Formats: sequence, structure tokens, C-alpha cells
Amino acid sequence: MRPFSGRLALVTGSTSGIGLAIARALAAEGADIVLNGFGDPAAIEALREDLANEASVRVRYVGADLARPSEIEDMMREIEGELGGIDILVNNAGIQHVAPVHEFPPERWDAVLAVNLSACFHTIRLALPSMLRRNFGRIVNIASVHGLVASVHKAAYVAAKHGLVGLTKVVALETAGTGVTCNAICPGWVRTPLVERQIEARAVREGVDGETAARALLAEKQPSQRFVEPEHIAALAVFLCSPAAAEIRGATLTIDGGWTAQ
Ligand code: NAD
Repeated sequence: MRPFSGRLALVTGSTSGIGLAIARALAAEGADIVLNGFGDPAAIEALREDLANEASVRVRYVGADLARPSEIEDMMREIEGELGGIDILVNNAGIQHVAPVHEFPPERWDAVLAVNLSACFHTIRLALPSMLRRNFGRIVNIASVHGLVASVHKAAYVAAKHGLVGLTKVVALETAGTGVTCNAICPGWVRTPLVERQIEARAVREGVDGETAARALLAEKQPSQRFVEPEHIAALAVFLCSPAAAEIRGATLTIDGGWTAQ
């Protein structure tokens, strides 16, 4: 028996980056996994099969677009109807858009808020009733250092992540007397496709190569001068799902190479 055998985990945005690392780590501990996110269907199917074989767990993929509340409702109904109640909910899907606030396209604002904040409200409200009935649940929200501090040109992302930290605290208070916990992880720079796009934009803007742009990005914010590894975030998520974390409630746990210690 592995620690999470018999548990069912939904990890949103798990076809890439941090979410995929979290799905892998939870599966390695024995949890059945629901993958979600965008990507090439054949590549996602290969990923699903690999994960199921490598960890000997059930892995299902649901391609819901989390910007659409109706697709979230369908996804949650499908999971509960076919696989049972969700024990572990990791709200990880996220998008970024970088622009000064007076040039920020309103439709990008709406999209960032929808995926990074509203989707988390919807998955939580739909997963909680069965968690409360069974008196067990772990909700892990992947926020960001940008849930705690700001940077220029990220109005929607910073607003959404601050909102997610607030939502985390409310859910933690409302579930404080139960076996359900809700916490947020706040990573600094992690070198995933989401950040790779920012590195590329910086390289073009400054007329430098990618590695020089990556070093400049770190130098600005992250005292360690190193990227955080997706696997480190996954290990923290696994810990938050363990019995030892039963009384960690409403916490914002940074894993940011010292970013917010400055
Ligand atoms: P990523 O781009 O590698 O992965 C994002 C995932 O979300 C992908 O699987 C993508 O398909 C999915 N996704 C995007 N829009 C979606 C939608 N509408 N519906 C369903 N799925 C959708 O990015 P990542 O860096 O791994 O980011 C994961 C989370 O970590 C995000 O919430 C991000 O804000 C947060 N984060 C990342 C960093 C970093 O430096 N990379 C730092 C702090 C926080």
C-alpha cells in the first residue's frame, strides 16, 4: 500500500510544467489521477498511458477549458459520476499576459481572471460537498509569489493570484473544523513553457540570447539565481496532502529562491 492508494486527485493544467510534475508525484504515491489541460491529443494520450503504467494507477484525461464554467461543471460531474469523489484537488492551470495596465487588452484580463481565479472557485465549490461528506479533502492552490507581491505589467495575473490567496484563506476557515484543508503554494520563477515565453520576449526586446535573458530575469527577482524545479513544488504539494499536514490551513507557502524575503 502506498500513502495515497485509493485516493483520487484532479490536477488542473497537468499536461505541462508544474501540474504535470504534481500529477506524477501524486501518482507515484499511489493516487489515481485526472489530468486536464490543453495539448496535442496524441501526446496527451501517450502521457496518460505512460503515467498509468509507470505508477500503476488509473489515469483519466478530461479536456475541459477552465475558462468556461459550464465545462468545469461537466468535468466535475463526469469525474464524480464515473470515478467517485475527488480527494485531492490541485488548482494549477494558469495563464499569463504581460502589458502595462493602460494597454492591457480587456479580453486578456478576462481570460487570466477566468483561468487563474474563477476556475478555482468553481472546482472548489463543486468538489467540496463530497469532501465534506467523507470528511477528507486536500485542496492545493498553485498561486505564485505574485499572490503576495507585485511586478509591473502583470495586472491581471497579480490580481488573480492575490485573489486566489484570499480564496484559499476563506475556504480554509470554512473547513477548519473538518478533515478538509486548503492551502496555497507560491512559487517564484520555474522554467516552464509559461516562463519560457517571457524569456523569449525579453531576449527579443534586449537583443540577447535566451540564456542571457534567463539570467537577467533571475537577477531581477530571485536571489538564489536559480530556477525552482517543478519537482520541488510537487514534493511540497505531496506533503500538503499527507496526514502530517492535517493542521496546515490557509497557509501561503513560498518556494521562491528568496524572492519574497527581500
Ligand atoms: P504551463 O504553461 O507549463 O502549464 C499550464 C497548464 O495549464 C497547461 O497544462 C495548460 O494546458 C493548462 N491550461 C492553460 N489554460 C487552460 C484552460 N483554459 N483550461 C485548462 N487548462 C489550461 O505553466 P506552469 O508554469 O507550469 O504554470 C502552472 C501554474 O503555476 C500556473 O497557475 C502558474 O501561474 C503557476 N506559477 C508558475 C510559475 C513559473 O515560474 N512557471 C511561478 C509561479 C506560479
